[in-house]
Amino acid sequence: MKVRIWGARGSVPCFSKKKSHFGTNTSCVEIKFSDKERLIFDAGTGIVSMGNHLSLKNLKGEQTLYLFLSHFHWDHIQGLPFFKPVFSKDASIHIFGKEGTEMVFSSQMIEPFYPVPIKALPANITTNHINSPMNVWGAKVIPFPLNHPQGALGYRIEYDKRVVVYATDTEPDGGRLDEILLENCKNADILIMDSNNSLEEAKVRVGWGHSTWKDCTEVSKKCGVKKLILFHHDPFHDDNSVFEKEAFAQRAFRNSFSAFEEMQIDV
Ligand SMILES: [Zn+2]
Repeated sequence: MKVRIWGARGSVPCFSKKKSHFGTNTSCVEIKFSDKERLIFDAGTGIVSMGNHLSLKNLKGEQTLYLFLSHFHWDHIQGLPFFKPVFSKDASIHIFGKEGTEMVFSSQMIEPFYPVPIKALPANITTNHINSPMNVWGAKVIPFPLNHPQGALGYRIEYDKRVVVYATDTEPDGGRLDEILLENCKNADILIMDSNNSLEEAKVRVGWGHSTWKDCTEVSKKCGVKKLILFHHDPFHDDNSVFEKEAFAQRAFRNSFSAFEEMQIDV
């Protein structure tokens, strides 16, 4: 499988030249099994670039896409109305997320916020609630709860004896949700995890629902993770600051890397 990062930023895209290395598009990760078989995690503004890439590749004929949402905060849904496959009658887009997924898109794509209601888009779009593991393209997708205001889901993806975990928008709770996170990260080949806060910021952002590089390296060490991808960079952290975060993390867990737009990893 191939993992590709389309948006690595959290909260809001906030471009400046000092953030051009890691990019400013918000959360979107693709896991590809073949040219026609892929899973998408989150529909932040990164999904807009991904949709353009798919259309440039001119994938002819029917296209079935599975999109899994962590939750519904803007930085995880904002790109969907501008994702080119929604305008293709040959595309089927199956969206999965926590309870309320059906309501979120019907109320996001509504006047005065957007000119076309979701039901009027040419693609066949379904919205579904996921609360148990499901099989797609030969992969097992296992949802699990994360500690975030209004709740969020992480996903463990198992395919051909390889494991990728997508766990963004989560803050240690010191309890049951930490245990669930650890259970689901066990022996992951790749862990993509929220690293939004610096250690100083974490002290004054209790309850905001985010982690630090240190939380990520601790989970990685406890779970036997092979490669850690630091994700959901704070919108105001420039490239130097994200490089510095990566360096701190590498001292604690050598195989740590900060996600950047168009980063690709073979698993
Ligand atoms: Zn977020």
